[in-house]
Order: sequence, then C-alpha cells, then structure tokens
Amino acid sequence: MVKSLSVLGCTGSIGRQTLAVAEHLGIRVAALTANRQIDRLEEQTRKFKPSFVAVYDEAAARAFKTAVADLPVRVGSGLEGLMEAAALPEIDCVVTAVSGSVGLKPTLAAIDEKKRIALANKETLVCAGELVMKRAGERGAEIVPVDSEHSAIFQSLMGRQPGELRKILLTGSGGPFRGKKRAELEAVTPQQAVKHPNWNMGAKISVDSSTLMNKGLEFIEAMHLFAVKPEAIQVVIHPQSVIHSMVELVDGTVIAQLGVPDMGLPIQLALTYPERRPSLFERLDFYKLAALSFEEPDLENFPCLALAMDCAGRGGAAACVMSAANEEAVRLFLQGRLGYNRIYDLAAGAVEALCGLPGTDIDAILEADRAARRYVQENGTK
Ligand code: MG
Repeated sequence: MVKSLSVLGCTGSIGRQTLAVAEHLGIRVAALTANRQIDRLEEQTRKFKPSFVAVYDEAAARAFKTAVADLPVRVGSGLEGLMEAAALPEIDCVVTAVSGSVGLKPTLAAIDEKKRIALANKETLVCAGELVMKRAGERGAEIVPVDSEHSAIFQSLMGRQPGELRKILLTGSGGPFRGKKRAELEAVTPQQAVKHPNWNMGAKISVDSSTLMNKGLEFIEAMHLFAVKPEAIQVVIHPQSVIHSMVELVDGTVIAQLGVPDMGLPIQLALTYPERRPSLFERLDFYKLAALSFEEPDLENFPCLALAMDCAGRGGAAACVMSAANEEAVRLFLQGRLGYNRIYDLAAGAVEALCGLPGTDIDAILEADRAARRYVQENGTK
C-alpha cells in the first residue's frame, strides 16, 4: 500500500472521494492542489494538514495563502505549483484527479520522480498516451488506473501472461439519453446532461458520458494503457453499470470485474495495489440484481464515440485535437453558450481542420491542444 499521497484536483468529485479513502486507510495526504475552490480547499487543508498546497488560479492562490496564514503549509500556484505537488520528495503516489489536459505536465513530472500514478485524468493518456506510457516504462513508474472501466480491465488482467489477451470489452451505461435520436437531443440543457443514471460525477465528465465522448476517451485511454490496437477493443453498452469491463482471452474465456458503481472502489485499489484491504462500500447483492443487459452502442445518434474510435487509429495529434476541442465545447455548453449537438460538430470540425498536426513531443501536443481550443472559440458561438 502507498504511504503518502499528493491529490491533484482535491476539490472535485474524485479528489474528495480519494481523501475519504485515504482517511479510511490511514494514508498520509502530503500535498493538495485545486483550481479555485478555495473554501473547500481550506477545509481539506485544516483537516488533512498537508505540507504543500498549490492553487492553479493565481488570484485564488493569493487569497488562499492569506486564509491559511496560521497554518505551517507552503502554498504554490499555477502549473508550476501542480508540478511541484506531483513530484514532492515525501510522497510515493500521485492521484491525478484534475479534469482536462492540464494534468499532462504534472503527470510527467511525477513519472520522472518514479511516483505511482493513480490515474484519474483520462485526457493525459488521450493526448499523449504514447509519450506518457513510454516515459513511465523507461523510468519504471507504475500507472494504476482509477477510471472504473480501466481498473476493471487492469484487475481482469492480473496474473495473465502477455499474449493471453484477445480483446477488451469496454462497458458503458449508455448515459442518460440512451435510446434517443440525435434530433431529439438538440434542446438538451446542461441540467439534463449532467444527470447520470448510475454514477455521481463532475460536470465535464457527466456531459461526456451523455454524448458517449467519455466512452470514446476511455477507448483511447485503454488502447494506450494496455498496449492494444483499436481493433482489439469492443464497446458494449451495459445500462446497469454492474460489470465495469471485461477481457476476452485467446481461449474464449471472458473475465469480468463486478461491483457497485462507486468510484471509491477503484480509488482504493489504486492506493492499496497489489494488496486488497477491507472497504466501507456497499456490496453487490445478487438477489436484488434483477437482470444484466447488453447492447451495441448507437454510433449514428451518438457520433462522438465513432469520432473517438476513428481518432484512436489516426495517431499524431488527432486524439488530442478531438479531446481539447470537446473540452472547450463542453465548457461553452455548460455556460449556456452552445447547443448540445454542437459539441460533436465542433469536435469533428476541429479534427477535420487540424488532424494533420504532429504529436511527436509534448510541445507539439500542447500546441495542437491550443489550436483545437482556438478553433472552438472561433467557430463555436457563431
Ligand atoms: Mg469511466
């Protein structure tokens, strides 16, 4: 089990659940980072007594520093602050629970210091999967996925030999609009889009779940984490979210991981791995499970998934462009400045316009990320 943690993105949904799990397991929380929710951050800082806290937003960082002036805590800010928190000498694990591509550089900083990465920031692998996995391999840094699907695949592959895996069966609930036609979704509001049937999550990932972009990002994430080709990943819609994903082995055996839909479980495993510890979460009751059902994803009415699967095979900066454009479009949608169906239009438009950009190194990737955001800002609210 890990001994001392940094939690990047501690005020978000995964960050808060991570702190609860750390408290339950008795793991020291040595560093915290947040974007700008400093009231909650102050509460967490007083409770967990980290030695270092970074606030991404500069103005919020100054206000936070004043608020905790009575505590023996160092305060950092900006991307530098996040990177320092990720590479702090006293920690052995970083939980990357920030949302978006801002997680990329801190993750690389942690890899360079051989920290365990409890990876909850999928954009990092979507944007720079090849570079990140290669660097982690070279430095010997462990990446343990926190995303429930990838944790399930990771668990299903424990003890397997290379060459035994035939395909990954990536499950998804289908989101709140499963069964709807694209034309019916035109007038969807942010309030409707963030209401997920099974999972309680942050706003950005909830919107992504509703468009199936989340499943698309997870498709790309799985490809990098488990070093498989896009053809070896099959998306299976499973509305009950009881099976969190499966693997099919070469002999036809299918191994699945099941559990209640609670992110606390994959978070805890990422911190205790390779051990298992008792947890406080609800247990599955098979007498109460009426049925588990499965269907094909509807790529026609949820084209974000098809777009992501296409980008998975393209290489270069295509996946990064798609993810950054989506992130920006979702931000505008949540602000009420963009129609729901425009999220796909803009992500697809950005890929079309910018997919030739190279993804050769981190600077090229970050440049592609910025270009995609500019594309959405320029074409978004027209
Ligand atoms: Mg997931």
